[in-house]
Amino acid sequence: MVSTIQTLPTEVVHLIAAGEVIDSLASVVRELVENSIDAGATRIVVSIWPEQWRVRVTDNGCGMNLEDLQRAASAHSTSKIRICADLWKITSLGFRGEALHSLTTLADLEILSRPAPSVEGGDCGWRVVYGYAGEAVHVEAAAIAPGTVVTVSNLFGNCLGRRQGLPSTAQQMKAVQTTIQQIALCHPYIAWQVWQNDREWFTISPASTMGQLIPQILHQVRASDLQELQVEIPEKESQANDSKLNLVIGLPDRASRHRPDWLRVAVNGRMVKTSELEQTILGAFHRTLPRDRYPICCLHLLIHPGHINWNRNPAKTEIYLNDVNYWQQQISQAIEQALRINSATVKEAVHTSRVGKLIKAAEEKSNYNINPSQPAEPNQTSHYLTAVGQVNNTYIVAEHPGGLWLVEQHIAHERVLYEQLCDNWQIVPVEPPIILYQLSPAQVSQLQRIGLDIEPFGEQLWAVRSLPALLQQRDDCADAILELSWGGDLQTAQVAVACRSAIRNGIPLSLPEMQTLLNDWQRTRNPRTCPHGRPIYLSLEESALARFFRRHWVIGKSHGI
Ligand code: ADP
Ligand code: MG
Repeated sequence: MVSTIQTLPTEVVHLIAAGEVIDSLASVVRELVENSIDAGATRIVVSIWPEQWRVRVTDNGCGMNLEDLQRAASAHSTSKIRICADLWKITSLGFRGEALHSLTTLADLEILSRPAPSVEGGDCGWRVVYGYAGEAVHVEAAAIAPGTVVTVSNLFGNCLGRRQGLPSTAQQMKAVQTTIQQIALCHPYIAWQVWQNDREWFTISPASTMGQLIPQILHQVRASDLQELQVEIPEKESQANDSKLNLVIGLPDRASRHRPDWLRVAVNGRMVKTSELEQTILGAFHRTLPRDRYPICCLHLLIHPGHINWNRNPAKTEIYLNDVNYWQQQISQAIEQALRINSATVKEAVHTSRVGKLIKAAEEKSNYNINPSQPAEPNQTSHYLTAVGQVNNTYIVAEHPGGLWLVEQHIAHERVLYEQLCDNWQIVPVEPPIILYQLSPAQVSQLQRIGLDIEPFGEQLWAVRSLPALLQQRDDCADAILELSWGGDLQTAQVAVACRSAIRNGIPLSLPEMQTLLNDWQRTRNPRTCPHGRPIYLSLEESALARFFRRHWVIGKSHGI
């Protein structure tokens, strides 16, 4: 009998394994750049010649001595881990010892490298060309600066079918750009230069935080449209270091997207796909943006490597994370904190102004990190805005140390009421009942669904015996209940009730009334937008006013002050 099961030739096994790691130009860039970052590089130059299927990455990292260089591309060879236990202590991006080896299977590979002059072997650089199994086939001295230059050419030259399966060059280059930008966001201190066909394609300058880097990538967004927050998260198992959460959000009244393409989650230096955490982010922005708009939110968790299993897929884009619920909670709290209006938010907006500098100096000694487990005292935030007047019986003029805001009274109040309703949806009895005429069965069951007590009251008549507490005192109760009967879930009903009950525009308010509204509004969780996503306030910052009135010019030149 002839057996149909055969062991695959080693060559085929290698080709299959290599294809798991390297499947596109972008994956070559990702693997080489990650090696540069693991080598401690602060400058990385990426050059791509897509038609030649060639990629070169040059870095100023720690380099390799000749011995390591000769070994770098052999199968399963890494300097980053040694034993099984190390898999739970991974602090580098690479650890599988597979990228360079896979590249020798799928392309031509040569590396030039030289350690720093102070290190053994740093007096000279070497060039090594590797063979199909990752062995060094050609070695020669090379005059280069400390660091490493890796060149991959003729990618997929020995399996042309691979090339045909890939998208167009333009799409592949887009993927390369996205890959580099994602990595840059996780490592903002790196200077990037990216070339395509011997021409400079784009650069990314180093920044001290992820938030400061984003405007270079998302050109329509300015730094002032973003709010950045760094939170220390206490480690549950005591001995380990605290974890950190770096968060950047687009302020919902200033920046959002029409696709969910800027929900980014990074863990310990790498963007990962985690639908659980993305859902948490979307949840935290609920009812702050118009329908069909998505938040900008970049999150970087720096946590003890013992909580993460990176060994989920070869590209490491998915992970297993211990105790996801805990992280979800921390993320919601941090986003909630970032969405509030508080001294930190205002400080951000005025940091260039004179007032901003004063605030900064006063706060210099205090800790900038905001700990969400100790939310700011309500008093501390509630006196931040002072009502000074009303314009058009619609806008409250509010002064704060960094400038002034115009707050639209109706939607600010709507935001206050909406959050009160979400926290405390109370249905109270009414006597006498409210009589409604000609309801469809769908309307009746809708009212029952949101908790109202309703029963037939004769021919085409219904009696409503309970209603949301906020509507109790109103003389347009019947209209309000009809509105609620038109459908939607409980939240839609809450939005409708808030909208109907909020102070209308066009109504004069006294200063104390305005102040109370400002105080209540500042304490809301999402003060920037109303539950339909409209912006609530317009800010005129002191710095912008000073610029407009050319204050620096007058003071400096005319009076010599
Ligand atoms: P891994 O990154 O998983 O260790 P690689 O195949 O990507 O595996 O790289 C193998 C080894 O080669 C690395 O562990 C590292 O020691 C060395 N190496 C690769 N690229 C560089 C570089 N740019 N600078 C310094 N060393 C490098
Ligand atoms: Mg690697």
